[in-house]
Amino acid sequence: MKKDVRNIAKEVEEELIQIRRRLHQHPELALREVETAEIIAETLKKIPAMTVYENMAEGSGVVGILEGKKGPGKCVMVRADIDALPIEEQLDVEFRSQNPGRMHACGHDAHAAWILGTAMVLSGLREEFCGTVKFVFQPGEECGKGATALIEKDHILENPHVDAVFAAHAWPTVRAGQIGIAAKYAFGCPGGFSLKIIGKGGHGSWPYQCINPITVAMQIYSALQGVVAENIDSVEPRVISIGAIHAGDAGNIIPDTCTMNGTIRATEMSVMKQIAEEIENVTANITAMHKANYELHVNIGGAAVENDPEMIALCKASAEEILGEGNCYIIDKKHLGGENFSEYSSRVPGCYMFVGIGTDRTEGKFGLHSPIFEIAEEVLAPTAAVFANLVLNYLSGNRY
Ligand SMILES: [Zn+2]
Ligand SMILES: [Zn+2]
Repeated sequence: MKKDVRNIAKEVEEELIQIRRRLHQHPELALREVETAEIIAETLKKIPAMTVYENMAEGSGVVGILEGKKGPGKCVMVRADIDALPIEEQLDVEFRSQNPGRMHACGHDAHAAWILGTAMVLSGLREEFCGTVKFVFQPGEECGKGATALIEKDHILENPHVDAVFAAHAWPTVRAGQIGIAAKYAFGCPGGFSLKIIGKGGHGSWPYQCINPITVAMQIYSALQGVVAENIDSVEPRVISIGAIHAGDAGNIIPDTCTMNGTIRATEMSVMKQIAEEIENVTANITAMHKANYELHVNIGGAAVENDPEMIALCKASAEEILGEGNCYIIDKKHLGGENFSEYSSRVPGCYMFVGIGTDRTEGKFGLHSPIFEIAEEVLAPTAAVFANLVLNYLSGNRY
């Protein structure tokens, strides 16, 4: 059986590479993945026994459903995100982006290709499993909205009810041929804030007649770094970064307002809530000290992506059956990227894997969202085989 999975994946390898290149040439931003969805739907429709649903997630979502021939059973969902980024590609490859200022710099073209490959493999093995597989091609991952739309508008986790959900991301710091799985949190809680400090503008020569919002902003900036360093439990991962501060136009004019935007991250929602309170507290106190006013919006975003222990064991064993013993390992180190896969995995047990794309040539050269991000194409077919094997193990009731 494992051999069948590997062989069928090998047979479709060239096709997967071509699909991924086609997607790569036509990158589209979150929730505008029109051509991308067409390519995916067209490919799914050619797969025997596949039922295809288009225009999901209020636009460019595509879902394929495949039933096993062994009768009713559980339902498992595998998900790919499909959106690209507002980045000008700097790679010189024959299949480089044809859309100016748009690039698949997060590898979602590869994610779509390997889930299509999973569908191709499993379509050939329907005699071997019971139950249902949902292949979900989710738009709008980068904007954080696509998963919620699929759940709330399309009820993707129902009809039939999904019992487990899996996904993977192409990961530059894991070697090609290997898969890493986070011991607990695959991604952190993403959040952010926007702050407008309202002072009193006037002539730069008479600051005592004004309330300089830039002075207030500088003090808030410094205080926030201290608060995050010292007021939160030392062992908790957390980040507060200020990415934008805007105020004023001229050196001799004190502006009325200063705006500040930042990102906040943690793994625990309780820490996110504490950071939000600290931001409010610091802002209220420092603006009061300067007799300034403020408008503050803190968004503590979605949950972290937490891997289910039983599903971690299943993924690791399924991956090693395909890639070889020792080629799937558990990652203890946390990181604080965000992924709206948490919308699914907070509702049903799931696991998120990091598929290695690092090679001797590329390792250390780029990260996600880099204009020179590239995929090691040789991982597409093996990853499709890993997903197919995982689905078969799950639906057969194999547990590790
Ligand atoms: Zn991304
Ligand atoms: Zn991504």
